[in-house]
Amino acid sequence: MTSQGHFIFSLSCAIFLKKIEFFRTLNLGEWGHVISGCICTCLLPDIDHPSSFLGKKLSWISVPISKTFGHRGFTHSLFACLCLYIMIFSIPFVRNFFPLDFSCALLVGYFSHILADFLTPLGVPIFWPLNIRFCIPILSANNLKREKKLCMLFLFVSILYPFSEFYSFKNFIDFQLIKDIIKNIYNLFIDF
Ligand SMILES: [Zn+2]
Repeated sequence: MTSQGHFIFSLSCAIFLKKIEFFRTLNLGEWGHVISGCICTCLLPDIDHPSSFLGKKLSWISVPISKTFGHRGFTHSLFACLCLYIMIFSIPFVRNFFPLDFSCALLVGYFSHILADFLTPLGVPIFWPLNIRFCIPILSANNLKREKKLCMLFLFVSILYPFSEFYSFKNFIDFQLIKDIIKNIYNLFIDF
């Protein structure tokens, strides 16, 4: 998946998870913290690829990781998520420095990347060091237009959710008034 695709997908996850009540910290968190946290880590797993957006900027980290684990190896696994969780919540300096909602969003951003790559045919080794890749290949690596459309669709769904707010828009429209206006215009023509 492209960097833009990951960015939009992660943003969608952040908006959606902020709106549902399942993750209370995110639900009650500040929009700025949740979205910025997600964006900070949404490209991080691709640090294992020297040609990726982050890989080019941090080649001194990227090259050794790439040589040791290969692309879509350790960094694209649940084990890496666990390591990030331990780093964020066990190191006192990090734990006390960042707000809790931002820290949780860092995890969401990271996991959203793995989830997005899971939707591509290459898949991800979720249970690394078990070297089996899992995938639901609905996004093709060669079809960037489809990737963009699906990511944009997910973003719109996240923005419109919950859809009850969208439906309540009809309360702003006075249908009786519209009917009366049409009736009056009709009667005017009949009188002619
Ligand atoms: Zn990736």
